[in-house]
Amino acid sequence: MSAIPHAVIALAETLERRWKQYLHSGNFDAFVEFTLSLNGLTEQLDRLSLPGLVRACQELENLALTLFGGDNTHPIGPEDSDAIQRQLTVILRELHRHETPAVALRQTDQEEPQAEGWNRPRDVLIVSRPAHPWTASLFEQLQFFGFHPHEVRWEQELEAEIMPLAVIFVPDQEGLHYPNEAIAYISKLRKEFSASFFYCLSVPSILESIVHLQRAGADACVPVSDKVSDVLSRILDLVQTKEQTVPRVLVVEDSATAVAHIRRSLSQHGIDSRAIGDPRFMLEAAVDYRPDVILMDMYMPFCTGVEVTRALRQLPEYQSVPVVYLSSETDIAQQVEALRLGGDQFLTKPVNPIVLAAVVKTKIDRYRDMMRSGRLDSLTGLLNHTAAKNRLEVMIKSAEPTGLLAVAMIDIDRFKSVNDTWGHPVGDQVIRSLAWLLRGRLRSSDLIGRYGGEEFLVALSGVDIEKGVAMLNRIREDFSALPHAHAHGTLRCSFSCGVSSLADYSSGSALIEAADNALLEAKRSGRNRVISAAL
Ligand code: GH3
Ligand code: MG
Ligand code: MG
Ligand code: MG
Repeated sequence: MSAIPHAVIALAETLERRWKQYLHSGNFDAFVEFTLSLNGLTEQLDRLSLPGLVRACQELENLALTLFGGDNTHPIGPEDSDAIQRQLTVILRELHRHETPAVALRQTDQEEPQAEGWNRPRDVLIVSRPAHPWTASLFEQLQFFGFHPHEVRWEQELEAEIMPLAVIFVPDQEGLHYPNEAIAYISKLRKEFSASFFYCLSVPSILESIVHLQRAGADACVPVSDKVSDVLSRILDLVQTKEQTVPRVLVVEDSATAVAHIRRSLSQHGIDSRAIGDPRFMLEAAVDYRPDVILMDMYMPFCTGVEVTRALRQLPEYQSVPVVYLSSETDIAQQVEALRLGGDQFLTKPVNPIVLAAVVKTKIDRYRDMMRSGRLDSLTGLLNHTAAKNRLEVMIKSAEPTGLLAVAMIDIDRFKSVNDTWGHPVGDQVIRSLAWLLRGRLRSSDLIGRYGGEEFLVALSGVDIEKGVAMLNRIREDFSALPHAHAHGTLRCSFSCGVSSLADYSSGSALIEAADNALLEAKRSGRNRVISAAL
């Protein structure tokens, strides 16, 4: 299985070529080209959920940005160019490793890989002493969530080729400083697996310990109080469903030249934009386009950018959308007033395209995080009821031409008795496990929402009803085998499920109702089954 599409490898090759061109010419434009293609590559990797590689690319991007300067600072000095070369080599090596199929150290899950596009890199190395109880427990749970765990001893030489998503270090002694040999081993693996995420478990809350581990290459130091399930949830977050909507920027600017320059810069970075030249159309445009960021000229014919922002903030839904001002001067009084109104940044025209894209992206990330926090269910991190229904409408629109969309309603069986017998916290843990299992098994383009207490709404794009039923049946089987820990051992749960298809029902409410009726039938006919609502 090739985890990285060839298109991305091609991007990496372009990046390498542009770096060579820069080394050859030493001119600023070539450096800009290099930074632009680096930025494009980072984004593609982010979409593929490869956090380690993304981080490596972002570090290189930051380095490039600090060396950005202008015409008179290029070519950069040999030390800086060596530093870039080193990081670039690491990234390219990792990418090529992803490209070739990884051979497992000790493959435990022999199940056939599913169709292309349904897989993300899922190998996880667990470094520990033999028979550590945490390792056994992690191993079992990781397998249930579709990961491929491998056990490795501390200081063991690794011979086989493997590209782990994550490496988990389990120290011999809980809550103590990691011994020097352990730190040395972590550093050694860091050099080998620069794109993987490193988790060090049972780390004492002592600054010195944490700093030592970070220097050795730990990405996360998990405190001694965290349980195995907390560690698991962090790993599941690595492959978490990501929203893939294109960022939208509304440009309010009366100069056509400035608009052309800005929109070109944005589109080079995969950012969609719309421009209006007259601020009087601003409110309609905002409602219609729903921008993630507004780029606002300071001086326009009818009113100033500050006045437009003030008007915009009167609308409840635009109280927090980020506004970045474009100004050609440094009028301090205007800028202070603009900041007071919640315009959070100034860019001086003409804006450097890379700085513009970087500022816009940072703002969008922050804004989207904030908006998300109102749309996600806090127990599971899945979309909540309203957000899930909204997302379903969007998916229906884009699937309408093909009719290929399967919608499933899932309800955990006899859940009241779990709560009654083992208590509410154990019930919560069961809900969370099902959420994790769904997240781990479905693609990032699928919808997974927590519809109600122990009910989930799922929508699978590009999938007909037979395939949808088959996928949910596999998940159902795995869930019913998943052990949930309680004070006196483990318990097992099952779920029932109804599946409907856009080929048979045309609206969101009809799809949900049909799936719900099929779910009811699944309950009536004995539970722990998936029933199709196909006509
Ligand atoms: P059935 O197989 O028919 O679905 O039986 P059931 O026991 O699951 O029945 P029902 O769906 O009516 O019960 C759902 C229960 O889920 C009731 C409620 O107390 C519990 N529940 C709802 N939300 C939560 C939650 O967030 N945490 C926990 N622990 N329990 C919850
Ligand atoms: Mg102007
Ligand atoms: Mg229910
Ligand atoms: Mg139930």
